[in-house]
Amino acid sequence: MTFNELDIIEPILRAVDEEGYTNPTPVQEQAIPIVLKGKDIIGCAQTGTGKTAAFAIPILQLLHNKINPQWKKRFIKAVIITPTRELAIQIGESFSTYGKYTQPKHAVIFGGVGQKPQTDALKNGVDILIATPGRLLDLINQGFVNLAKIDIFVLDEADRMLDMGFIHDIKKVIQVLPKKRHSLFFSATMPKEILKLANTIVYKPDYVDIAPERLTADAVEQSLYYIDKSKKKNLLIHLLEEVNYFSVLVFTRTKHGANNLARMLCKAGIKADAIHGNKSQSARQKALQNFKSGKLHVLVATDIASRGIDIDELALVVNFDIPNEPETYVHRIGRTGRAGLSGLAISFCSQDEIPYVKDINKLTGNQIPVIDEHPFVPENGRFKTSEHSKTKNPPNPRKNQYKRNFRKKLK
Ligand code: AMP
Repeated sequence: MTFNELDIIEPILRAVDEEGYTNPTPVQEQAIPIVLKGKDIIGCAQTGTGKTAAFAIPILQLLHNKINPQWKKRFIKAVIITPTRELAIQIGESFSTYGKYTQPKHAVIFGGVGQKPQTDALKNGVDILIATPGRLLDLINQGFVNLAKIDIFVLDEADRMLDMGFIHDIKKVIQVLPKKRHSLFFSATMPKEILKLANTIVYKPDYVDIAPERLTADAVEQSLYYIDKSKKKNLLIHLLEEVNYFSVLVFTRTKHGANNLARMLCKAGIKADAIHGNKSQSARQKALQNFKSGKLHVLVATDIASRGIDIDELALVVNFDIPNEPETYVHRIGRTGRAGLSGLAISFCSQDEIPYVKDINKLTGNQIPVIDEHPFVPENGRFKTSEHSKTKNPPNPRKNQYKRNFRKKLK
């Protein structure tokens, strides 16, 4: 299928074409026609599947013809709520990209920074507002935002919203929306409580489900190293030195752990930085920018800070700590192997994390292959378990197209 076949208007087709997209991703193929028809949607899709364009493109199209560029006053016609500042910024960038030849104007608002530039943008008039929940409520209460006339409401990453404790904020926002509206609900996972929330928001929805299993099974080459907790740093440095990777995203459980690890890597001569919620917005943006441009080779992140980090050509994802929710594992490794390309993900499992690996294998229906031979194999072999299939040789990243691409880029 091509974008042409989705009945997308020429100014958006041109922008998509300039981005180099040839075909819509599955979530786009399914969601765009539903949204263009004006139907509500419940979409189960994670970051990396092309979900942003799946709602941004039809929203731009639906609003494009409604806007007269001569209008002096604009009012908000669509609002997108997303859990983190990084995601909000990235969604804003997507609207800029896909909407560069269309009429709607958008603004992005999020907390942790002064509100003046954001309220100035709002005063100038916007059609589409992208917001994190706290700042949105704050600006609604201060009278800078009025959502009474919106046509379209998008709730993005609903499961993460719940994890982050935003449920009350969301409910308050919903109260100020018009009852009659077009609602789009997206979540990476769809447990019962999320579905329950979804059903309080949407009306007669169509469902789109891009199963995470497909992502793990098809696109990402995975491996698991059993290792003592205290040796994880050594193993990471060893692997990074051995293979000389570029563009590695490493996940740790805690902010403190992220800082420590980035410091250790720098000491070992590896260009690394950490990104997490305690860092200022500008420090996070700078680290992300340096990573995207290749100045930094390794970015150490916590799950929340990394949510939605949008890097097209990520060579490797490392689970330095195994996440205790299996969905998070799928979500993390989905950062590599994006948009149909292959990727590589390695995970370090200490003894106390074995139950998490079991949960992951259950969710994905696959056993993560275990690398038995490495310099830091636990002495008493206590991690050996018949549960896992075993692989003698680690995956050969030299075969990996990302690495070649990055080498080319860095030359
Ligand atoms: P998202 O899931 O929205 O975070 O998108 C993941 C990545 O896929 C982003 O870097 C997009 O630029 C890219 N992308 C989105 N749609 C397409 C497409 N149809 N073809 C190629 N890349 C895409």
